[in-house]
Amino acid sequence: MKSYVFPGNIREDILAIGNCQIPYMRTKEFSGINLESEALLLDFIGSPKGNVIIYTGSGTGAMDAIVSNYVKTKKKAFVIDGGTFGHRWYALCEYYQVESYDYKVSFAKDIDYIDLENVLCREKPDVLLCQHHETSSGQKFDLEKISKLCKKYNISLVVDAISSFLAEELDMETLEIDICLTSTQKGLNIPPGLSIIFISPKLKGYSFAHLGYYFDFEENLSNMKRGQTPYSPATSIFLQLHKRLLQIRKDGGVRNVINKVKERALYFRQLCMENNWNIPAECPSYAITGFYVNRNSDKIFRALIEEKDIFIMPGSVPGFFRVSHMGEQSLEDLLELALAIKEIESR
Ligand SMILES: *Cc1c(COP(=O)(O)O)cnc(C)c1O
Repeated sequence: MKSYVFPGNIREDILAIGNCQIPYMRTKEFSGINLESEALLLDFIGSPKGNVIIYTGSGTGAMDAIVSNYVKTKKKAFVIDGGTFGHRWYALCEYYQVESYDYKVSFAKDIDYIDLENVLCREKPDVLLCQHHETSSGQKFDLEKISKLCKKYNISLVVDAISSFLAEELDMETLEIDICLTSTQKGLNIPPGLSIIFISPKLKGYSFAHLGYYFDFEENLSNMKRGQTPYSPATSIFLQLHKRLLQIRKDGGVRNVINKVKERALYFRQLCMENNWNIPAECPSYAITGFYVNRNSDKIFRALIEEKDIFIMPGSVPGFFRVSHMGEQSLEDLLELALAIKEIESR
């Protein structure tokens, strides 16, 4: 099977962990593993003095936790709503009854940063929620510009880096991000099931809200101090996470992973150009390539699965497909994929 959906093809040695017996987790060995994972994660995101919470739950679980524990303590939120995932921030604010402004950005377009500043000035939020990469379209937002505005107007910055972590450069400290998050099934390239929250050292001692028992920040943070989770963790995935983080460090670190993702993205975009498959994103992230095919879009997704054992992601817009560049994939694989799509397109 060739997978261009999240998490992509996973290394055999990581998969093998999922096939092993599961050790008891209330041990010093498991605590040691988690504390090492925490340190590596903080190093990779550029916030060595920060804190980490690892939840058993998908990325949206961590988004939910951030809104119920942190955003809820604020008077007014501001959401960059550039697609499915941006809108999810807004829906969570509504759900927890936090006053929020829904700043809409058109499909695959970049933010008009001058307009953004004007609206921020007018709305005066005290927390801004955005995505680094809006995965529904492939559009990447300019965190440096967003961060500057947040600093200028004294707005707390929360960034969903679920699909940009290990695909794009991101330094939490330099960008003065207060809370950042990712999950295991994207750039980390291990099975879905864990989500990871990074909390800036600026928030040490912060009075978080207590609206959700399972996802409570304070309870989870105090357990993480000793490398534990309050409730049963998805132990195998915690072990896969640890092994993957060690691999990344050994293989040249974050920069090396990003460079590989970037090389594949640029190569596949070249193939898209040659096939006249238009890429709508104004500033595409390396994480995925989102592109329009010209014919037979209703056949491509199923035919790839049924005839070639290849998975790609359909988009929310007709004729639009997304190919992830994270995980195990070679340039030859991408050429084979492009040829397969081209062949189905021309039937
Ligand atoms: C995948 C993703 C999520 C979370 O989705 P889950 O299905 O809950 O893991 C959130 N935001 C972005 C930008 C994503 O790519």
